[in-house]
Amino acid sequence: MKETIIEADYLITCNPKNSVIKNAAILIIGDEIKALGSKKEIHKDYSASTVISGENKILMPGLVNTHSHSVQTLLRGKADDLALLDWLKEVVIPGESNFTADDVHTSSLLGFAEMIRTGTTTANDMLSTNNAESGIQSAIESGIRTRIGKMLMDVNPNSPTERLDDTDEIIKTINHQIKKYHYTQNQRIKYTLNARFLLSCSPELMKGIVETQEQYDDLMIHTHASESQAECKAVENYYKTSYIRALRDIGALGSETIIAHGIWLDEEEYNILKKTDTRLTHNPSSNSKLASGICDVKKYLELGIIVGLATDGAPCNNNLDMFREMRLATFLQKVKHLNEKILPAQQVLRMATIEGARAINWDKEIGSIEEGKKADVIQIDISDIDALPIYDPVSHVVYSASGKDVSMTMIDGSIVYQDKEFKNFNLNDLRNKVSQYKEKWSH
Ligand SMILES: [Zn+2]
Repeated sequence: MKETIIEADYLITCNPKNSVIKNAAILIIGDEIKALGSKKEIHKDYSASTVISGENKILMPGLVNTHSHSVQTLLRGKADDLALLDWLKEVVIPGESNFTADDVHTSSLLGFAEMIRTGTTTANDMLSTNNAESGIQSAIESGIRTRIGKMLMDVNPNSPTERLDDTDEIIKTINHQIKKYHYTQNQRIKYTLNARFLLSCSPELMKGIVETQEQYDDLMIHTHASESQAECKAVENYYKTSYIRALRDIGALGSETIIAHGIWLDEEEYNILKKTDTRLTHNPSSNSKLASGICDVKKYLELGIIVGLATDGAPCNNNLDMFREMRLATFLQKVKHLNEKILPAQQVLRMATIEGARAINWDKEIGSIEEGKKADVIQIDISDIDALPIYDPVSHVVYSASGKDVSMTMIDGSIVYQDKEFKNFNLNDLRNKVSQYKEKWSH
């Protein structure tokens, strides 16, 4: 098996003690981190065929993007300055449904490429209703680790009594896709039940999703919930109860469910999420751009609810850079609560790594640099002037660095990106495909 030593000026581990080691190195054998320590110790105890220099580099765990829509990346810049329901109705849902299989492949590959380039090694990803398998192929091709699946919806969100797709057919399709993809690619790909949101999912579909989840191990439900006030009102009209209560009554909450946004909740609803051990994914850029509101992350954390961080899709962000999410997440909480102590750098970094991994039930294998964990790591370049001086590398990563500083991304022990080069696919081919789509859209 291939042995690699990666050195670092600073190693940020995100282990339970939040250890940071100066002049460090890690040993990787195959897809696993086998040892870590000072550069001296590692070189004394081990040798490896490949040694990656860590001069002017921070080495840290790969970022976990707990809510993404890789398939929407071709719609970047096409849906600016709109509120959630108009944004969905006018651009995003028509855009997704007009995609050919080839468009889905291009759009998702573009999304995963950007995530990998900016240090994300794991994504919890929602695809489109049609041609989802082309998106899964992009994930496989890019080398990213992901929970991924077809977007599930059977009614028209503008008028939920209008049926769009046959519910039984949807359940059949997801069972087929679960059997084909769940726990494949060295277990890097896990299938996910992506119920878009309650306005697009009938009670029958939600029931089918819950029943499907019960039949498989480690199969999560991933859905949007309580994102905007207008949406919450519409859900209440359709389901005759509030958003979180509706999800609870269907049986869709629990430790294998992650909800995106969770902004507009009453007191009891927070407690329902706590009691059921439901996970939250916080999306500060998306919530700001769509003017949905500021999620009360402080409250979730005080209740002990597991919170991960995420970018959401390109049309509501408009980038997929988790570094910007870390920075905005901490700034928004400080302003919301007028308290500079809330969500300090170390805590928000954990949300983007190990806590994100916990939120999607993958923390035994990823989210930190520890012996026995999967080799999902990134190098951050600190040779530029905005990295001068560094007193605390964690502060630098959260408050100063950006995804563009990532110089190397390794997933499952394989380098997938290094020094502006993607190892698994041809970037020029991808650029050409994106241009072709842009031409098509412009006519
Ligand atoms: Zn979303």
